[in-house]
Amino acid sequence: MTDTRPAIRVSEIFGPTIQGEGVLIGLPTVFIRTGGCDYRCSWCDSLHAVDNQFRHEWKMMPVDAVWQSVVALSGARPVMVSLSGGNPAIQPFGGLIERGHAEGYRFALETQASVAKDWFAELDVLVLSPKPPSSEMRTDWVAFEACIEAAREKPQVVLKLVIFDESDYAFAKDAAARFPSLPVYLQPGNHTPPRRGEEDAAVDLAGIMRRMEWLIEKVTQDRWFEARVLPQLHVLLWGNKRAV
Ligand code: SF4
Repeated sequence: MTDTRPAIRVSEIFGPTIQGEGVLIGLPTVFIRTGGCDYRCSWCDSLHAVDNQFRHEWKMMPVDAVWQSVVALSGARPVMVSLSGGNPAIQPFGGLIERGHAEGYRFALETQASVAKDWFAELDVLVLSPKPPSSEMRTDWVAFEACIEAAREKPQVVLKLVIFDESDYAFAKDAAARFPSLPVYLQPGNHTPPRRGEEDAAVDLAGIMRRMEWLIEKVTQDRWFEARVLPQLHVLLWGNKRAV
């Protein structure tokens, strides 16, 4: 039978590996990284899934083909599937989530929350990651709230904030104050992301650890006891390497 569901624009599918950050850190996960993003953050570490220069690497894949890749990678054992990007919210994931749930798989999506979709309510975990001032992007809080409304209190919804400097920290506090019911995860940004075509470029590990210590100090001094501070574990382990 022909698959009439809209195809998904995929940059890469890989795993299982561990989720490297946020609420699901350490959990074995298969990743579907989509191609294309409505943002251009100054420090984006996934340019190969954002920049049109890499468009030739992206594939329009039918839902069945994406699903078969996930099943093959996971050995048909249900696992957490992370929908990432780019901005995965601009892809049609409803059919895939329905298919995966029928087999016992779970789905998490991470997005900057610029685009809301009805199928957010079918997710198991929705990670909303508004981009701070250092990204040079501006958060549309109306669109952000539409994402929370689209989830209809079905998935676990959390707030994840990347922090590079004082103004990012102030932004994070403001975001948390706007949505006090959402659990908050903070992480220092990778200030040495790969440049175009340099996917294995070294990261400044010592610098990242210093930023981590600075962030922990800020949170504890502020008595911001609801926030959790985490590193990007995959960056500590594998630097800027792709598909790990
Ligand atoms: S929203 Fe994410 S994927 Fe898109 S440009 Fe920003 S960091 Fe990169």
